[in-house]
Amino acid sequence: MDFEAFFADQLSGLKQEGRYRTFATLERLAGQFPVANYRRENQSKPVVVWCSNDYLAMGQNPDVIAAMQQAIGEQGAGVGGTRNISGTNFLHVELERELAQLHGKQAGLLFTSGYVSNLSGLGTLCAKLPNVMVFSDELNHASMIEAMRAARVPKVIYRHNDVDDLREKLADAPDDVTKIVAFESVYSMEGDMAPLHDLCDVAQEFGALTYLDEVHAVGLYGANGGGLSEVQDAAARIDVIEGTLAKAFGVMGGYITGSANLIDFIRSFSSSFIFTTALPPGLTAGALKSLRLVREGKHLRETLATNAALLKSKLKAANIPILEGPSHIVPVMVGEADTCRKASQVLLEEHGVYVQPINYPTVPRGTERLRLTPTPAHTAEHIDQLVHALNQVWDKLELRRVF
Ligand code: PLP
Repeated sequence: MDFEAFFADQLSGLKQEGRYRTFATLERLAGQFPVANYRRENQSKPVVVWCSNDYLAMGQNPDVIAAMQQAIGEQGAGVGGTRNISGTNFLHVELERELAQLHGKQAGLLFTSGYVSNLSGLGTLCAKLPNVMVFSDELNHASMIEAMRAARVPKVIYRHNDVDDLREKLADAPDDVTKIVAFESVYSMEGDMAPLHDLCDVAQEFGALTYLDEVHAVGLYGANGGGLSEVQDAAARIDVIEGTLAKAFGVMGGYITGSANLIDFIRSFSSSFIFTTALPPGLTAGALKSLRLVREGKHLRETLATNAALLKSKLKAANIPILEGPSHIVPVMVGEADTCRKASQVLLEEHGVYVQPINYPTVPRGTERLRLTPTPAHTAEHIDQLVHALNQVWDKLELRRVF
């Protein structure tokens, strides 16, 4: 086989469709978020980042940075092994305990990313419980999809957040299968929220285990930042709550929480937990510090909500088409891959605004978008600058103002 020709051909297909991914190279500037340097060739220019998942700017919080520096100074760079072989650190144990507490669960388990926590958590349940049939919201994240695929169990996809459709599909399933229902709380590309109690009611009716991804909600919603399950007071009804340390907590890593037996089961049977090096002390200390600050950080959540509301109202007033939703995620609809890419490029090159285009397969074709993520660190001036820039780009590229 001509491998090079195959690779080139596949890439040219992506380019023709306008969904070949290019990455903007940034240099983050500690203390200046959301401003970062955009680096290209030998040049560097400051831009305002509008698509970061460092939702609360904790990635640049001085206390988080200090905790990381201290842990590295005291313990060194790496952790030295898998959790099983010399890699379990007292910081892991503390962080797992506090994450479990955050969600009102008996136990927690850390992974090197949120992606791996889904792959491992959901994947192990699918693969190791007997005779599983898994029911998955149609907008579930790639990491959950991959977990279910790799476990090779029958998968039933129900319409997004549609409890009636889920009930019908559960009712159609054979009585003797082990049912798992997997969903998210805040959906990352739509910015909408799941009806957790309704989903739990249906799951309970059919004896299904519930698996919730709180990646885009943990730290951001709830009195303690416990996510949507805290807001809706539903955590106790959910068997597994999964989250990330990379978004609201601003560092890196992922986790699941649940009953002591369930967590011990995954700890004992999951290949992607056992056979990989554990999180290093610097990251773990940073995440632990961030978790403690965010838990107390009501003001951060309030400022985020205020900024998100201000951004949405200014975009609406300027006739920029957004998907209306209750969360901090603000999708601006474009509807075509190549135009979406161009809009992002003009914003970056001509307006000093960085927002990555979101194209298929992340979202369905025809719903390509720019996904804005305001944070507490964005100012009213940043918002005005963004709305002005979007207006100019919408005129220049003659984009649709109604979607
Ligand atoms: N779950 C959802 C819903 C996500 O959107 C993401 C990443 O964006 C992940 C899991 C993976 O989290 P991480 O970035 O920590 O790997």
